[in-house]
Amino acid sequence: MSEKWVETEFKGDYTIDGAGVRLRRIFGGPQTYLLTDPFLLLDHFGSDKPEEYLSGFPWHPHRGIETVTYQLEGKTEHEDSEGNKGVIFPGDVQWMTAGSGIFHQEMPKPINLKNPNEMLLNTGMPNSAVGIQLWVNIPRKIKMSNPVYRYILSKRIPAVENGKGAYIKIISGRFLADSGAIKSTGETDVTYLDIRMKEESDFSVDITEGNTSFLYVISGSGETSGSKKIVRGTAYLFSHSGSSVHVKTSDSTIRFILVSGKPLRESIAWYGPIVMNTNEELQVAFSELDKGNFIKNKKPIFEDVD
Ligand code: MN
Repeated sequence: MSEKWVETEFKGDYTIDGAGVRLRRIFGGPQTYLLTDPFLLLDHFGSDKPEEYLSGFPWHPHRGIETVTYQLEGKTEHEDSEGNKGVIFPGDVQWMTAGSGIFHQEMPKPINLKNPNEMLLNTGMPNSAVGIQLWVNIPRKIKMSNPVYRYILSKRIPAVENGKGAYIKIISGRFLADSGAIKSTGETDVTYLDIRMKEESDFSVDITEGNTSFLYVISGSGETSGSKKIVRGTAYLFSHSGSSVHVKTSDSTIRFILVSGKPLRESIAWYGPIVMNTNEELQVAFSELDKGNFIKNKKPIFEDVD
């Protein structure tokens, strides 16, 4: 069993997106996609200063991708053009397959401490709203499928301990004998794990040879294959070769996400929130936005995962 090794690091850049949300784009764009296929973009959004996130991500379209939103602090209020509404609380995931297209808005907010139910979800950072949004490409054959939203409550996400000081939440895919809360759409077969490790602990996971995989450190530090130090706020992209990833800690704890999936190896044409295979398809999408016939399926499917 050979270990994958770190091929590329993404430290990310601060940028402003939506209507003025300060976020750190860890990776994203056609250039990094050459390395990260099927993963298009990774954003760490929000902060502990409401003025840096309250403007949110008001009405915007998506087509041809999946957006996976993992809330860490605060909440994100979500609404779409059909009047569907939801709130993503800490530990919850919204896994949205845009398919042929949706309009939605995503508005980060602090936890409402006056609401007794929400108060219980306060992570100790009452002014914060923070999350991670991953964009996953979808294959040509389902680019124009019906949109689907999946809401995965934190308590529905399977969690296991590995007996070596690591606690693993399985959002999608598999870890050892356990399956995640959802099976990802399409041919990418995404595994998405959230791993918390104590000091002096070990974690390892098998990842199919040829898959694209990366870890992104949310907090703390540790070490991965090849005695590579891994630190907060950085993503580490592993080699396609090799079939396992190892992390160990010594005097620090660490929390990171580990994501893997099968590359699609299809051409992409990407502008803003829309990712298609050809420039013609991209032009069709933007002319439909102009003409007002962008939405193909009036009723996105909503699924609660349990
Ligand atoms: Mn969006």
